[in-house]
Amino acid sequence: MSQRLPLIIFTLAMAVIPLIPGIPPFWIVLLDNIGLAALVAMGLVLLTGVGGLTSFGQAAFCGFGAYTTAVLTTAYGVSPWLTLPASLLVSGIAAVLLGIVTVRLSGHYLPLGTIAWGIGLFYLFSKLEFLGRNDGISGIPPLSIGSFRMLSPDTIYYAIWIAVLVSALLTMNLLDSRTGRAIRALRRGHVAAEAFGVQTPRAKLLVFIYAAVLAGLSGWLYAHFQRAANPTPFGAQAGIEYLFIAVVGGAGYVWGAVLGAGIVVVLKEVLQSYLPYIFGGQSQLETIVFGIMLVLLLQLAPAGVWPWLMSRLPFKPARKTPDTSLKLEHPARASGTSPVLLHIEKARKQFGGVIAVNDVSFDVNAREIVALIGPNGAGKSTTFNLITGVLTATSGKIAVLGKEVENAPPQEVVKLGVSRTFQHVKLVPDMTVLENVAIGAHLRGSSGAISSMLRLDRTDEARLLAEAARQIERVGLSDQIDQLAGSLSLGQQRIVEIARALCVDPQLLLLDEPAAGLRHMEKQRLAALLRQLRDGGMSVLLVEHDMGFVMDLADRIVVLDFGTKIAEGAPAAIKRNPDVIKAYLGAAA
Ligand code: ADP
Ligand code: MG
Repeated sequence: MSQRLPLIIFTLAMAVIPLIPGIPPFWIVLLDNIGLAALVAMGLVLLTGVGGLTSFGQAAFCGFGAYTTAVLTTAYGVSPWLTLPASLLVSGIAAVLLGIVTVRLSGHYLPLGTIAWGIGLFYLFSKLEFLGRNDGISGIPPLSIGSFRMLSPDTIYYAIWIAVLVSALLTMNLLDSRTGRAIRALRRGHVAAEAFGVQTPRAKLLVFIYAAVLAGLSGWLYAHFQRAANPTPFGAQAGIEYLFIAVVGGAGYVWGAVLGAGIVVVLKEVLQSYLPYIFGGQSQLETIVFGIMLVLLLQLAPAGVWPWLMSRLPFKPARKTPDTSLKLEHPARASGTSPVLLHIEKARKQFGGVIAVNDVSFDVNAREIVALIGPNGAGKSTTFNLITGVLTATSGKIAVLGKEVENAPPQEVVKLGVSRTFQHVKLVPDMTVLENVAIGAHLRGSSGAISSMLRLDRTDEARLLAEAARQIERVGLSDQIDQLAGSLSLGQQRIVEIARALCVDPQLLLLDEPAAGLRHMEKQRLAALLRQLRDGGMSVLLVEHDMGFVMDLADRIVVLDFGTKIAEGAPAAIKRNPDVIKAYLGAAA
């Protein structure tokens, strides 16, 4: 209830504002504009703040929404309510077409790509005859319900703000779900998300479409608010402004979009009305002052104004603890009859001239802890990446339970019951431990975006969170379950990664330097946990430099040096092996 109360108060406040006697009509217009901008910025929150895909081109999608209804209502006499789905559909289809090309771009190319089509579409809008070229289309009918026509700013106000509130609710629901966690994991790169079965290109396209549809909705409302559409508000400049709004409000926060829209729209208005009085008609000045004020604001609250405000609240919103009595079904997997779980035969990986893994062969059997050791740069992490599909082998064979995986993507390998941790921790720092770990159970849930938005995913979701909570308890981090992953020590973060990997319910667990950064007691607990997992039927392949830890724990050890296997055997034999002492142990001692 405590989560809902502010929302109810906000909704009521927004509902009565136009009814206040004597409120200047101009304020209502401002609020309408804030609502319209907030819708677009909300899409950017998901796309840029949460998903990490920066777009300068969102205004173009408003254009698709606005022009679709403009053409259909004026040229074909279609009712505005019927053009709503059409506007959303056209924006969505435009997003699919542009998204397929754009989301494949990485680094700086992605925002540059969005600028390119943002400018391109602006020119398209202003050159097409049937869109009225630069003059645009006028005479768009108002929205109406029965004989009630939303002709004035204070009547369409309700349509706009209902759209904002409903969109905010749907977006928050989406973020707080299995799909939402997958989207939130995108920003930290695709490797960790894919290791747990997330189809990252699909997730990126989804947020791209979602953001475009929200912009399309804003455009549709705009067209019926202005009763006209021309290219100017859909150009690159507007696209930049929307991104500004999202960043000022707090790019990762749904309500940040609304707050950011409020700040930017009001600030611009105030500057435009008052600066000319102070400095006398210099029209360029407001842009400069506006820029300076925004920079100052971001100095004060670098993550945006919304999180800055929230961190100053005297109370924290309560979190629900997962009901760990809920059970999650074990994934259905082929369990082979052969005792060999992982078979690696002459696996080779070349990076240009460097042979990182040089025809390495070894097996991991069921219920076995195998350690992969060797000096830095020996090819241990690369071997992990070959097994888990992050890298494709140059040659050789890798099979999990008899199924060849050397060309399989990570999402397929994890389905066979192979999960892993990373040498360089790959958690989402601003997600809680619980949420991070729940990403590990991604493949064990099935709810999609639509059911999440409509909250039809709650049983599925409760089971996933229960499983995550159980694994967190298993690794001994229950006290940290609601903390942000980024606030934990590096050693603890490694343990969080183990809990996440355990959520897969793996048959084979790959751990890349799990004990690095752990204290002595923590190492002993980890060793006890790994033994317990093995005795429960799991196999473990681990890379580790702490020789005390390895010799004590491993059933078998494989030693790599310069990408080549130089020894394999029981710990006692490895300790005495002269080649190993020369290449690695001697140096360590
Ligand atoms: P280890 O985990 O045993 O310390 P790695 O598997 O990380 O070693 O690296 C093995 C070798 O491969 C090193 O020489 C490293 O520089 C090289 N290497 C690893 N990944 C890449 C890559 N993506 N591109 C080029 N070289 C790489
Ligand atoms: Mg390594």
